[in-house]
Amino acid sequence: TTALDSNEEKGIPATAFFKELPTNNTAGPLCVPMIIVGGGTAAWSALEAIYEKNPTAQVLVVTEEPYAPYNRTPLSKEMWSIPSIAAANISKDTRAELEYKYHLPKQPESYRASIMSNVSVTRLVPSENKIELSNGMEIFYEKLLLATGGKPSVSELVNMSSLDPSIQQGIITYRGIADFERLYKSFVNPETRNITILGGGFLGSELACSLQTRLHQENNTKKQITLLCPEAGVLGKFLPRYLSDYITKQMKRYNIDVRPGVSVFDVVPSKSSEDMNEHSRLQLQLFGWKDNEHITDQVVIAVGITPRQELAEEAGLETDPVAGGIRVNAAMQVEGNIYAAGDVASFWDRALGRRRVEHWDHALVTGRIAGENMAGGNVTYDWESMFWCDLVGLNISFEATGIIDSSLRTVGVWTLKNSLRRGEFSDQVLNEGVVWYLRGNQVVGALLWNREGKGLDVARQIIGSKHQISSVQDLTNLIPIQSE
Ligand code: FAD
Ligand code: NAD
Repeated sequence: TTALDSNEEKGIPATAFFKELPTNNTAGPLCVPMIIVGGGTAAWSALEAIYEKNPTAQVLVVTEEPYAPYNRTPLSKEMWSIPSIAAANISKDTRAELEYKYHLPKQPESYRASIMSNVSVTRLVPSENKIELSNGMEIFYEKLLLATGGKPSVSELVNMSSLDPSIQQGIITYRGIADFERLYKSFVNPETRNITILGGGFLGSELACSLQTRLHQENNTKKQITLLCPEAGVLGKFLPRYLSDYITKQMKRYNIDVRPGVSVFDVVPSKSSEDMNEHSRLQLQLFGWKDNEHITDQVVIAVGITPRQELAEEAGLETDPVAGGIRVNAAMQVEGNIYAAGDVASFWDRALGRRRVEHWDHALVTGRIAGENMAGGNVTYDWESMFWCDLVGLNISFEATGIIDSSLRTVGVWTLKNSLRRGEFSDQVLNEGVVWYLRGNQVVGALLWNREGKGLDVARQIIGSKHQISSVQDLTNLIPIQSE
């Protein structure tokens, strides 16, 4: 019998089942044909694929966030520049616009699936096809997708549990809508004079630019945005040194207080005399900075994520000891009837080997493959996903595909121009370019600078064919760059 039949046997009608999902097990154990764990892009994409293949599919999504699955990418960019976000709450109109444009969460009713939000899956028992939930329920599945993404890393940086609650309040990590709403509240509070972002990766750099742009828009010179990163420059883990230096310089000129080469070793209440009457100010104790300390009102930790593989690990499923994450095959299958996709999946890339990717397009593509296969399809991964990064206000955006890692050898092909516009950067501006990343002589990654994605398909083909160069000159014309 199928899970659905067994529910019907228990008197739960198939058609009504999903909108009237029991919230406890008093009527006996619940069985569901397809369960998706997670409320991010991989979950969203899997749902789309499942319903395309089987419009009458019966799917349950369990997510610990209070929303239906949504896209996180506007949270470090557009959300800070939409004028109608005047209060900490996202207004109804804005929400409708964001749902449409960026698929921020739709109302659960508009999904065909049943969405169980504010509930975590606490245990997975593959031998019984069962999950256990934080609300005490047990649910049986026929097919399961783990789309659990990652959680922001903090532990090695700040031992949150040892901090006084008043200090904890001033420190946040940033991953979802609830974090946006919290940071927004702090940002608009006149008492917040400084916001300090720890980490110069994608999140830290995008957020710093978006917050500073908002301050410029409001002519607000009373607040300061600081970014501390251990690398020699912003995005230094990913970009060649000259490019990281260039962005760092542009951010400083944009009035962001960027401090490269700095690590934080403790956070304590501020004891400075000017703050004697304040309770919320924090003092960061620093390595690598001349004053060894920095006073702030709000800390945002953006030091990477840890894949949420604990359900799989405890269930004895295979995880990746190198890249982290849950190991899947090309069909996004972990084993038998269990699938994984998105940030949490360690997958086999035909051109680049086993790896894990923490970007939106990858979650979209792998979520789709998992969903289609769960609905009876037979598709495999044969693609190179892309990502984009927008530094709002600096007029810098880039797209990339493959491995983007500054420890690799890179070759850049550029056109340069002098910015003549008054009030803007006076020295040379990197106009348009391609940076190739090489492992030995093999092209393994490409970054397209200010090109609005033009050239991505060519880059994908080159990476996918394991293209070997015989000299650096080979790279100059692979993607034509317009000269000024
Ligand atoms: P997630 O989106 O992390 O979703 C995982 C979900 O699983 C969450 O809802 C979580 O609460 C839930 N969950 C985990 N464990 C459990 C459990 N046990 N029980 C129930 N629920 C659980 N990428 C780009 O390419 N370009 C960008 O511009 C970009 N901007 C970004 C901006 C921000 C602010 C952030 C945070 C990320 C950005 N990314 C961007 C990265 C991109 O958003 C991620 O790669 C993508 O969200 C991964 O999707 P996912 O579904 O795998 O995981
Ligand atoms: P990241 O991996 O992009 O960057 C991590 C950064 O953390 C490092 O570059 C470093 O500056 C910093 N760091 C690491 N250890 C540190 C320490 N001990 N002290 C101080 N700094 C330290 O991660 P993120 O920027 O936190 O972003 C979170 C996730 O969101 C990532 O998966 C990222 O890919 C994703 N994201 C992607 C985009 C995009 O693709 N445009 C935008 C925002 C977020």
